[in-house]
Amino acid sequence: MDNLFQTINRIISSPYWMLSVYVLLFCAVVLWLVLVFWTLKDARKRVDDPVIVGVAVLCSLLLPYIGTLIYAILRPAEYLADARERELEMRAMEQELHTLRACPSCGEIIRPDFLACPSCRRPLRTACPSCDRVLEPGWKLCPYCAHDLKARRVAPPVESPPGLAEAQQLQQVPQQQ
Ligand SMILES: [Zn+2]
Ligand SMILES: [Zn+2]
Repeated sequence: MDNLFQTINRIISSPYWMLSVYVLLFCAVVLWLVLVFWTLKDARKRVDDPVIVGVAVLCSLLLPYIGTLIYAILRPAEYLADARERELEMRAMEQELHTLRACPSCGEIIRPDFLACPSCRRPLRTACPSCDRVLEPGWKLCPYCAHDLKARRVAPPVESPPGLAEAQQLQQVPQQQ
């Protein structure tokens, strides 16, 4: 037992021991400051409110390691940039849905490349006589192959006035069921 104490005493009193303790302490402090800095960087990416960012950093600073751990558990799961991107995607999808038109006769959703309504057979658009791509009614020239449509004018589908179309739609709904 005496021998063990002597050994421990010798280790503690050696200058290497103190040096190791200082190095360890220095590493601990550096790690603590790095964690505080990481909290600041991460919180700014995830939280919009600067007050909450400040609280997170203060928590990390005043409660070394534990504060950072608490922040890591409670932080929002998503980056602000990702949230914004998702919102933009949603808005783009909504806009796309708005640009999808309904058939004036039966209300069926019409995609931009449809020539006729698949539900009620109503002709909606014409195809370019030169390149066969879908043309919008009212176009004077095919934008894909520059074919002048005035040369051989294809009659555009007759667009009924909105009120009439709605009336037709209402009339046709019971027939379809
Ligand atoms: Zn239709
Ligand atoms: Zn064309």
